[in-house]
Amino acid sequence: MKAPVLYLVIPCYNEQEVLPRTAPMFLGKLRELTERGKISGDSRVLFVNDGSRDDTWRIITDLAAQDEHYQGICQSRNRGHQNAVLAGLMEVKDRCDITISIDCDGQDDIGAMDEMVDAYLDGCDIVYGVRSKRDTDTFFKRVTAEGFYKFLAAMGVEVVFNHADYRLMSSRVLREFANFKEVNLFLRGMVPLVGFKSTSVYYERHERLAGESHYPLKKMIALAFDGITSLSVKPIRLVFFFGLLVCVLSFIGILWSVIAALSGHTVAGWASTACIVCFMGGIQALFLGIIGEYIGKIYLEVKARPRYIISERTPGMERKDTEQRA
Ligand code: UDP
Ligand code: MG
Repeated sequence: MKAPVLYLVIPCYNEQEVLPRTAPMFLGKLRELTERGKISGDSRVLFVNDGSRDDTWRIITDLAAQDEHYQGICQSRNRGHQNAVLAGLMEVKDRCDITISIDCDGQDDIGAMDEMVDAYLDGCDIVYGVRSKRDTDTFFKRVTAEGFYKFLAAMGVEVVFNHADYRLMSSRVLREFANFKEVNLFLRGMVPLVGFKSTSVYYERHERLAGESHYPLKKMIALAFDGITSLSVKPIRLVFFFGLLVCVLSFIGILWSVIAALSGHTVAGWASTACIVCFMGGIQALFLGIIGEYIGKIYLEVKARPRYIISERTPGMERKDTEQRA
């Protein structure tokens, strides 16, 4: 088997302090893997500048001028980490066999790449980088980050616990992934939807080599909210069950007020008013839930996600479309 072409996809936003230190680390890793015959010499390090306001893009162009293994693309403005990673992956999907997305701040251990590539060579199409420990994170970051994954799982989003966006994806996964046309991106929740054989590789997360995090609590909550609302209709289902519960309680309320009125324990007019309030409350809560169910369906329809993805074919059933790569 020919050694696969690997592209490292690295989003960068205002990273002038850390990039000059981490870029040679990424290239070093690429060289090491090439020398060991694991990957092809045509492999590249691709930086995606996410509309940085500092010198990041100049640093990237300087690097690209120094060594052909460095490449860069620049987004027209800042669109956020998820979009930057997607832009990089989509730009390289037809140039390579595998991609590894990784942050540029040196927090994710590049040592895990060896295991990722080995897992690919063993037949896995997706390899998730999972943080084994969070010793270097502050107590607050650790609690909020782990709470984030648990909350997502409780809300019906399929995520790999403690996996962020450090992962290997093969080009065939990326070509299928390109058919997920949604614009609200939460990559770590979407990638498992593609399927294919996958595995996890564990690594320790380091501290940032320089610069500051762009993910304060506020952005993390926004990301969790985006993840839930773009991948799960469970909150709508909760509204439906809440409506059902209110409806049952209202029915009991109606019975109770009728019994109280018949046994003469009420003032005139109370029972009829209570009945109307219970009836309206119950019926509205239930109907909102039912309407919500339909909105949930519409929501999933407008995403126009692929309805099936084929992973293996016997000879004679090769894919016949114009996008097929030679
Ligand atoms: N990033 C980006 N666009 C943004 C924010 C962040 O491309 O709007 C990049 C950033 O340069 C880094 C990665 O996303 O490579 C992760 O960001 P950061 O390290 O700030 O997050 P943390 O690791 O603290 O969660
Ligand atoms: Mg970071």
